[in-house]
Amino acid sequence: MRDLSGPTWRRMLDTRDIFQSVAALHGFEPWETPVLEEQDLFRHVGEESDIVTKEMFSFATKGGQQVCLRPEGTARELPCAWAFRPGRWLSCREDAAIARAAVSSGALARTAGPLRASYFGPMFRYERPQRGRFRQFYQCGVEQLGDASVLADADVIGMAHRFLQRCGVDLIPGMDLVMLVNSLGGAESRRRYEEQLASYLCGHRASLSSESQGRLDRGSVLRVLDSKHPQDQEVVASAPSAVDSLTVECASRQSALERMLGLVGVPFVLDHRLVRGLDYYNHVVFEFVLGRPGAWREQVEGHVGTVLAGGRYDGLVGSLGGGDAPAVGWAAGVDRIVALTEDQGGADPRLENAVEIVPLTSESPAWVDEHVAVVARRLRSRLPPGHSVTVQTTPRSAKKQVGAAAKRGVPCVLFVGLDEVGANSVTVRCMGSRREWLVPLGARDSVAVEGSELVGRVVRALSSEYT
Ligand code: ATP
Ligand code: MG
Repeated sequence: MRDLSGPTWRRMLDTRDIFQSVAALHGFEPWETPVLEEQDLFRHVGEESDIVTKEMFSFATKGGQQVCLRPEGTARELPCAWAFRPGRWLSCREDAAIARAAVSSGALARTAGPLRASYFGPMFRYERPQRGRFRQFYQCGVEQLGDASVLADADVIGMAHRFLQRCGVDLIPGMDLVMLVNSLGGAESRRRYEEQLASYLCGHRASLSSESQGRLDRGSVLRVLDSKHPQDQEVVASAPSAVDSLTVECASRQSALERMLGLVGVPFVLDHRLVRGLDYYNHVVFEFVLGRPGAWREQVEGHVGTVLAGGRYDGLVGSLGGGDAPAVGWAAGVDRIVALTEDQGGADPRLENAVEIVPLTSESPAWVDEHVAVVARRLRSRLPPGHSVTVQTTPRSAKKQVGAAAKRGVPCVLFVGLDEVGANSVTVRCMGSRREWLVPLGARDSVAVEGSELVGRVVRALSSEYT
């Protein structure tokens, strides 16, 4: 687990803001669920999935209940959102059984309309930490419930693409953002495919890793496709494709989606072996990856290239006792998005509106500090949102203070020394043009107009007018 430093965490929060604005644009409501969960809940993710077999952070409570830190959001978010629909919010207790019970009462299901839920928060997986892979990481994600249409698939995928674009993930030099997509079809198509795949894999059993042999023996054939073992990947490269086993109905659904993706403007590449790590998917599965054209699976400069992944899971709510609730959704790795975009360097956009107040402390600190406090208060209460006003408290010479502010990229510095205190004013310096102005603060008792000249001057010093 890692600590997140100020700039990285701030970028993660910025990513959360982007996510929330895109989610709101698409009509999604924010949801929050507990970090500590009943371990049993995640069985529905798939007994053979990596999450359940080896990545769960689980332990027993004092009362002997087996719990875990949530490894993903869907298994909880989905039934919870379904049960506690707007206007029908029951009591969001830390017990998934409540959601399930509320759902299975049937009363809630009758008012079913598409429901859109979004979430952002930490997830925990006990996996080997490496670049882009952490034991505590952050995901944002969405679930759209109660709508089985291809239009819903395209809308949710289009939203994922818009979110990544707004984060700047599609602008990283030397890498292309593309969506890998596959269809597992409905129950009949999936049954046919599992049969085909099982017979192929049995023929190559000896070449598979012991883990994949075990999965094959236990009937979890699709899981073998998702294995990260190089020896399995060799076998998998020539495995039959899921699309060849689709029923006519499922195949036409997939072609309809592909046409729609073209209209929505999402670039995609068919990846017939994409199954995703979790058991609950049917019909469409997708992953947005960053990579080099034609070599999407190769890691670029040590990056783990999958930034967002999802699909349709029509049976999951049912498996939790929630009845028939078709669903589609995705989750994005916020740490990976931030790492990829952070590597691009570039100025921190927030610095554009940053103001630093520097007390010239060698001169009578108490008076100066009091004046600084007044200046800071006036600016903070009157500058428009999006600005920051920082008071520099490290005792240093004015020259060093300016040098340090320049190094940090602060565009506007205010000096407060004895002269400024005496004249009830402040010196405003535009760092780009190196111009300075002595600006009066105005009468202390005229609250309505106090500091307005100063605010105007600071805003102009920050604008490109002087830089
Ligand atoms: P991977 O194949 O990389 O293990 P996954 O299939 O386990 O991914 P999901 O469970 O679908 O991933 O999670 C969605 C996204 O969350 C991933 O695409 C990735 O960006 C991010 N993610 C998953 N595990 C981690 C982790 N341990 N650290 C950081 N980000 C992660
Ligand atoms: Mg994983």
